[in-house]
Amino acid sequence: MGLTETFNSIKSKIPADVTLVAVSKTYPTEVIQEAYDLGQRVFGENRVQELTAKYEALPKDIEWHLIGHLQKNKVKYVAPFVKLIHAVDSLELLQTIENEGRKLNRKIPCLIQIHIAKEDTKFGLSPVEVSAFFESAAVKNLAFAEIHGLMGMATFTDNLAQVAGEFETLAKLFEDVKSKSHSYLSNFNQLSMGMSGDYAIAIEKGSTMVRIGSALFGKR
Ligand SMILES: *Cc1c(COP(=O)(O)O)cnc(C)c1O
Repeated sequence: MGLTETFNSIKSKIPADVTLVAVSKTYPTEVIQEAYDLGQRVFGENRVQELTAKYEALPKDIEWHLIGHLQKNKVKYVAPFVKLIHAVDSLELLQTIENEGRKLNRKIPCLIQIHIAKEDTKFGLSPVEVSAFFESAAVKNLAFAEIHGLMGMATFTDNLAQVAGEFETLAKLFEDVKSKSHSYLSNFNQLSMGMSGDYAIAIEKGSTMVRIGSALFGKR
């Protein structure tokens, strides 16, 4: 199948109110342009250098999402244009984003990454930390780092019941935070979960944003 068929097939499986983030890491700009020409506007990258290079090279109405782990010293490179930072995993990083946003007088939308997988290698706050995090004064006082929701990655496993359980845990945390209805959470409405292998389950469990790479563009 060519990109057109694959793209249309995946789009047909995603409800209209769920955002498709086309994960273009490692793929060349020509492939991104091809997806752009099919109407795709939201793309995700996991490395800052690759993201900024592609931002320079491609149409300016692309919405660039940074989906991978972000180091504090690299925030300044994406702060001027990034549309959403998915994997904010500490208060320190959030504070750095806040400072860079203030310098630019630009609000920077962020998602807080939650560690739901039974793997040590994935970043994020642990589920038990979430409640206190959102009650902390440091988080409540943010003016430029704007928290738009939560993000998580399930365990890489064939055990679909386990994946479903992990997404359910994340969806529950999302609803818990949302129900606090603090004014600083007025933009809190995105739940980023689901990748090529598990996006159907994620959507079933309440995902509002799926990050799909290899199922769309082929093996990396
Ligand atoms: C690479 C990546 C994806 C996409 O993975 P695929 O399995 O290729 O769909 C999604 N989310 C994050 C955080 C990634 O790094």
